Amino acid sequence: MSNWIKFSEESITATKAGKCSVCGKHCKLTRKFYQTLNPYNKDKNGLMKTRGQIQKELKEDITNWKGKQITHVKCENKVIVKVQRAFNNDNILVYNKDKTIIWEGESKDVYRQLEESNSLKAYFIAEVNKKGFIEIMTRITDQDF
Ligand SMILES: [Zn+2]
Repeated sequence: MSNWIKFSEESITATKAGKCSVCGKHCKLTRKFYQTLNPYNKDKNGLMKTRGQIQKELKEDITNWKGKQITHVKCENKVIVKVQRAFNNDNILVYNKDKTIIWEGESKDVYRQLEESNSLKAYFIAEVNKKGFIEIMTRITDQDF
């Protein structure tokens, strides 16, 4: 015998779609927004939230979520970078969207790609790992930074 009570859950499942902020491809996300109706889930006056209050809050959460940029889950740790050849050596310079150099060094592979397309700069999707290392991955079309 257990005394656990299963609180009833209010939930709304929402969907949003658009171009992914990283890879630019179509992205569709579905997310369930929920709260439970329980004595500890109180409003700012200290009263237990009603079903209606919860529904209203969930709708506000959904509006906020829909207002934010859309990114594939697999793209979340990725960024778009600009890569340029250094003027005085064979290094490449990696810039982020704020035009800050986030890395300078040798990458023969990327350098060759720049040389082959005879371009001074190119844009790539890069992955940033937890240690802060950056891996330049797929070349993408030119961006405006
Ligand atoms: Zn993406």
